[in-house]
Amino acid sequence: MSQRIIRSGVGLGAGLLLAYVALMLMPLLLAGMQDRAPRPVRDELASGMALVAFAMLLAEFVLSGRHKGLSGRIGMDSIMRFHQFMAHVLLAFILIHPFLYSLPMGVVAPLGDLDRETWLQLTTWPGITGLIAWLALFIVVLMAAVRDQLSWSYEAWRISHAVGALLVAVLGWHHTVWAGRYSGEPLLAGVWTIALAIAVIALIHVHWVTPLLQRRRPYRVAAVRQEADRTWTVDLEPDTDGGHSGARLEYKAGQFAWFKVGGPLGRITEHPFSMSSAPAQWPLVSFTIKEAGDFTDRIGQLPEGTQVYLDGPYGNFTLDADDNRPLIMLAGGVGMAPVMSLLRGLRDAGSKRRIILFQANRHEGQILYAGELSDMANSLDLRVHQVLQEPPEGWSGERGFIDRRLLESTLPEDLRQAAQWAVCGPPAMIDALETLLLRDFRVHRSGILSEHFHYRFGDRAGKAGHFLRAALAATVGLLLGLILFALRG
Ligand SMILES: Cc1cc2nc3c(=O)[nH]c(=O)nc-3n(C[C@H](O)[C@H](O)[C@H](O)COP(=O)(O)OP(=O)(O)OC[C@H]3O[C@@H](n4cnc5c(N)ncnc54)[C@H](O)[C@@H]3O)c2cc1C
Repeated sequence: MSQRIIRSGVGLGAGLLLAYVALMLMPLLLAGMQDRAPRPVRDELASGMALVAFAMLLAEFVLSGRHKGLSGRIGMDSIMRFHQFMAHVLLAFILIHPFLYSLPMGVVAPLGDLDRETWLQLTTWPGITGLIAWLALFIVVLMAAVRDQLSWSYEAWRISHAVGALLVAVLGWHHTVWAGRYSGEPLLAGVWTIALAIAVIALIHVHWVTPLLQRRRPYRVAAVRQEADRTWTVDLEPDTDGGHSGARLEYKAGQFAWFKVGGPLGRITEHPFSMSSAPAQWPLVSFTIKEAGDFTDRIGQLPEGTQVYLDGPYGNFTLDADDNRPLIMLAGGVGMAPVMSLLRGLRDAGSKRRIILFQANRHEGQILYAGELSDMANSLDLRVHQVLQEPPEGWSGERGFIDRRLLESTLPEDLRQAAQWAVCGPPAMIDALETLLLRDFRVHRSGILSEHFHYRFGDRAGKAGHFLRAALAATVGLLLGLILFALRG
């Protein structure tokens, strides 16, 4: 059953990919239908690239939004990776396109009288807006690529990313509609205006409408307790004061929500955290949070009664109730939080599944939920392997990392093949384990669940590699469309 859901997610992904390529090529179709004299191939390619890239740019606003249903099927990390990859492809198209023009864009004039600046209309307003958008796009994408190296806070980067992208979209729209050879036609100009409006609405929706709706359903901090070294559990409960309904948060064990402490209306200060509780614990919703920066370093001091807003649930790190395969869980550090949510959900459902948990940490003080895990062994068919990098003297558990040696020595091959795997932890750990499972243990991709806490563009392994291939397939589709457009004359 779980395989079926994941396969249907894959089918949905393929369908969405096709829809994306078709939608991005639509401006080419509308341009191709216009009755215009053919130009040399490289000029058509230049115009075509600009048309496709502008459609992709506007689509990025929708892709970077939050889609509960979609993230529940194909995962937020996958959506974000696709967003990041396509941003690089559209940047390449935009950067290249002005250099391809050999003729003035739709200008019928004696070529000898025109220098290159005039051809590109750089001395006109649409040329100037195009040039600014061209440069600004480069900066926006570059700053996203080197975000981890910037000394800016995540929030400052996020504001600059949203504002920069909006600037590029508005200036790009002006340039496209007023300088474009094809986009000045009423039909295509109308399409661009509607698409720009949708992009702006998507931005407003996530930054302002969602927070406004959340205000109707506030939570308050019921308790904060230290769970392990530099790691805290925050229990929330619905805040029903002031006539709020306290409606139930309909989440599945393993999902995450965006967590925002009171404050201004915008969503800039939100942070994503996995629920570590399971739905049956309602009206309590718990998060286990590790100190990792500006916001999380202060989480242990969050006073009881503080108002919190949640936007969720999101994510597809979830189990299917009818799945009876053995379950092998690999958790590193605070990656144990959504894994604990899954375990609590299985316990609450009286699951009979065979479960083997490998919990990895650097030292003993970081081990999460040790007491509850040993209690769980009474109600679940659960075996726990604690793995420490720096074990104390006399440590009887495993030493080192969760790696091939450990998994091969503990799990027979038929179990490794038959099991469902759930992996959550630091990015390097997820990448290494997904690669091990897929390449060496030959586990089918549909048998692996994973949740990434950090969306890194450079990731190539496991699920990231799969989405890289999907994004490459979309790029090939777009390039084919562009070639057909350029050669149509
Ligand atoms: C789906 C998901 C589930 C997560 N679940 C948990 C969990 O259960 N427990 C836990 O301790 N951590 C979890 N995290 C990680 C957590 O969101 C970050 O550690 C936290 O946001 C860091 O914020 P900071 O201001 O303290 O640190 P900063 O120094 O500001 O950020 C450190 C890094 O965290 C990431 N980050 C910061 N803010 C955000 C944000 N608003 N959105 C996305 N990424 C951000 C960035 O990569 C940043 O470089 C999860 C992350 C994701 C994406």
